[in-house]
Amino acid sequence: MKYATFSLPSDVVPRLGVVRDDRIVDTAMLPLGTWRAPTTLLDLIQQGPEAWQRMSQLVNQVGSTTGHPINGVRWHAPIPRPSKNVFCLGRNYVAHAEEAARARGQEVKIPSIPVIFTKAPTSVAGPFDDIPLDRSVTQQVDWEVELGAVIGKTGRNISKANALQHVFGYTVINDVSARDLQQQHMQWFKGKSLDGFCPMGPYVVTADEFGDPQSKQLQLRVNGVTKQDASTSKMIFPVDVIIEWLSKGLTLEAGDIIATGTPEGVGMGRTPQEFLVDGDVLETEVEGIGTLRNRIMDIK
Ligand code: MG
Repeated sequence: MKYATFSLPSDVVPRLGVVRDDRIVDTAMLPLGTWRAPTTLLDLIQQGPEAWQRMSQLVNQVGSTTGHPINGVRWHAPIPRPSKNVFCLGRNYVAHAEEAARARGQEVKIPSIPVIFTKAPTSVAGPFDDIPLDRSVTQQVDWEVELGAVIGKTGRNISKANALQHVFGYTVINDVSARDLQQQHMQWFKGKSLDGFCPMGPYVVTADEFGDPQSKQLQLRVNGVTKQDASTSKMIFPVDVIIEWLSKGLTLEAGDIIATGTPEGVGMGRTPQEFLVDGDVLETEVEGIGTLRNRIMDIK
């Protein structure tokens, strides 16, 4: 199943949809009977496996012409406002750890324990939204394609062996980063959390449909030019190990989102360095999910 959050031109509140081919099925239009069905993806995830199965069965009952053409809707992040910060992995690919250290004139340190930071929930943006660039705040905005994992089953001290059973599904995240702020503030949170700096989507593909999270290709293009192109097989800490570490003494809740780190090819690591400017178009792709398309837009 591919879950998405969308709206029609007259909508005030976004809808929960399921994408099938070139159509998106509005889950509120399904024959729900007496079921007080979830109206957001976060609600659906929190209701648990019985609700997921029920929704899946209902969608499979309706005909293939049901739903809105995908080109006629507005797309939102699948979870437009997560209930807490997005968890993020830093330096989770060796070649990226090397390029980042080189760019900062530091010694290369490959982490033996995951490097974890977060992005504010207000940074989350839709898969095709413009990314606001405020020149009075930052001059060094950079890209980072990442596989996102969405937790489905709440847990703490989750073992590696059980970890993937706690994942509801996967999505595409661009961990947009203000490098100058990361440096100035001596801590990554601020530079990672500007408004609009976490485009996400276009869907959450359920774990059963997505398959092995360590065998997918990641790509990022700027104005059509490929900048990042690597496999998730190169993660230092794969998704199950990330969940094991992150959940030690810390409850991971249904609906929590983890950005699993970016491979090499970011702008900071290039010679000369490249940072985004007004009008640049980012295409952020994960095999088996889809592509985000976001334009950088200067704001006053
Ligand atoms: Mg990142």
